[in-house]
Amino acid sequence: MTEIPTVPLSSGGTIPQLGIGTSRLQGREGADAIADALRAGYRLIDTAAQYNNETAVGVGLRDSGVHRDEVVLTTKVAGGSQGRDATRTGVAESLRRLGVDHVDIVLIHWPNPSRGLAVETWTALLDLQSEGLVRTVGVSNFLPEQLLELHGASGVWPALNQIQLSPALPRHDSVAFHRDHDIVTEAWGPLGTREGLLDQFVLRTIAAKHDVTPALVALRWGVQQGYVVIPKSSSLERQRENLRVADFALDAEDMQALETLGLGEEDAWDARTHEEW
Ligand code: NAD
Repeated sequence: MTEIPTVPLSSGGTIPQLGIGTSRLQGREGADAIADALRAGYRLIDTAAQYNNETAVGVGLRDSGVHRDEVVLTTKVAGGSQGRDATRTGVAESLRRLGVDHVDIVLIHWPNPSRGLAVETWTALLDLQSEGLVRTVGVSNFLPEQLLELHGASGVWPALNQIQLSPALPRHDSVAFHRDHDIVTEAWGPLGTREGLLDQFVLRTIAAKHDVTPALVALRWGVQQGYVVIPKSSSLERQRENLRVADFALDAEDMQALETLGLGEEDAWDARTHEEW
């Protein structure tokens, strides 16, 4: 297996371009799936307070036998924990559930504009970063105009923005904005399952050409453009399959053909109106 490539973070250090998504991986089974993924070679975990699985993630991390320092552990501040004091409490509770003394990356899960607390939450995270409880601070689901608001208030760009992104939802404006401001783009839903991506003829044709699965083509598309992808799977077989993303490359013709699968921005969940708690 080829080593998973990494990209640099503006906050220092690097992040692997493939990680394991964990939504709905809960309880003992969830912990086992996370331990399996780490033993198979994953070194980036994506969880969130909202997933109700931070305890299971912590158990999986310890059961795996992989050293804590080798793993980039990401969690997210839930909507209900936005605001200055609530963010501090929320992150402290995440650390307690995970059973760790720091997390590598904390993201604001959604901007939730109706509450107007994103800037306060962001500056609270910057404080936690300077106190050493969090190594890197970033956001999730922020549109360029919402990133500008954070930067305007603090002078600091998030190191990373995790957004809904796949060949089905290429999010041109967001990824160009990230590139211009040294923000790492991380893709949730990288397999485009909500958009029926894996059944697309174009994707299947490219997969057959490289003798890989359609899922691997979708992941490779992201990795090749410098994004971080975090597919979720509880099955060790699929976790191993997804690790093969580093073993082949798409050519210019493949990338051009994949462009034809892109839906418009209106098909992505709209962070101006979609809120999560
Ligand atoms: P995904 O693109 O990872 O798709 C998951 C589905 O694909 C699962 O049903 C899984 O069994 C299947 N799958 C995995 N590997 C496969 C393979 N090789 N072949 C065929 N099918 C395969 O979508 P997701 O779970 O929505 O997103 C991944 C992760 O992103 C989540 O687990 C979570 O950590 C994160 N996420 C974040 C947000 C956010 O708002 N920040 C939202 C959704 C998800």
